[in-house]
Amino acid sequence: MGSGARRGLAVVISGPSGAGKTTVARLLAQRFGYEVSVSATTRPPRAGEQEGREYRFMTREAFAQALERGEFLEHSEHFDSLYGTPRGPVERAVGQGRVILLQIDVNGAKQLMEKLPGAYCIFLSAPDMETVEERLRARRTESEAAIRTRLKRAEMELAAGLNYDARVVNDDLERAVSEIHSLIRQQEERQANGC
Ligand code: ADP
Ligand code: 5GP
Repeated sequence: MGSGARRGLAVVISGPSGAGKTTVARLLAQRFGYEVSVSATTRPPRAGEQEGREYRFMTREAFAQALERGEFLEHSEHFDSLYGTPRGPVERAVGQGRVILLQIDVNGAKQLMEKLPGAYCIFLSAPDMETVEERLRARRTESEAAIRTRLKRAEMELAAGLNYDARVVNDDLERAVSEIHSLIRQQEERQANGC
């Protein structure tokens, strides 16, 4: 390991809605103590979602002002709502040697690859589109129209072909979680060895 304090790691978990990003990130945080970045959004809260836990819910005006002040590392418009990653918590976690997980869409991942070259970017997908559809329906959080929009968008995201550091298929949840954990450990080791 090189001299100085150990740097942390920003881990981007990106992929289509319904791939399982939220579920996987929650388990990784619970089991391994990783921090999870709480995004800002202009979409209304779903039943059971709490301000500051799943998202920081904002009006469009407040979001635009925060954007103007440079408070987001990246942002993206998705299903008529704005989403953004607050800069402060990510920079603090990385500076203080912690792992922080970001669950963001493919647009956001693309911006982060440019703005935060040290970020480790994982593409998470479900085994196929039928599974994505089944999971979105089973989640019971969206209207039929919203499910249709998400499926269309998922196809575009799968086709985007960004240069991710790793791709993980979320077939079996436990397997996907341990695969991502191993990938993070390997990346931390590479970083510690100055690679
Ligand atoms: P995302 O955050 O990518 O939109 P979620 O984490 O909300 O996706 O997952 C979508 C739905 O699929 C949720 O109801 C979740 O419980 C379920 N799910 C996630 N991973 C799996 C898996 N490996 N097998 C079966 N169901 C899963
Ligand atoms: P949902 O409304 O289902 O919670 O999220 C919709 C999409 O927005 C998901 O693909 C999710 O990953 C993405 N998303 C959530 N937070 C952010 C963010 O901060 N930035 C970007 N670019 N996308 C986000």
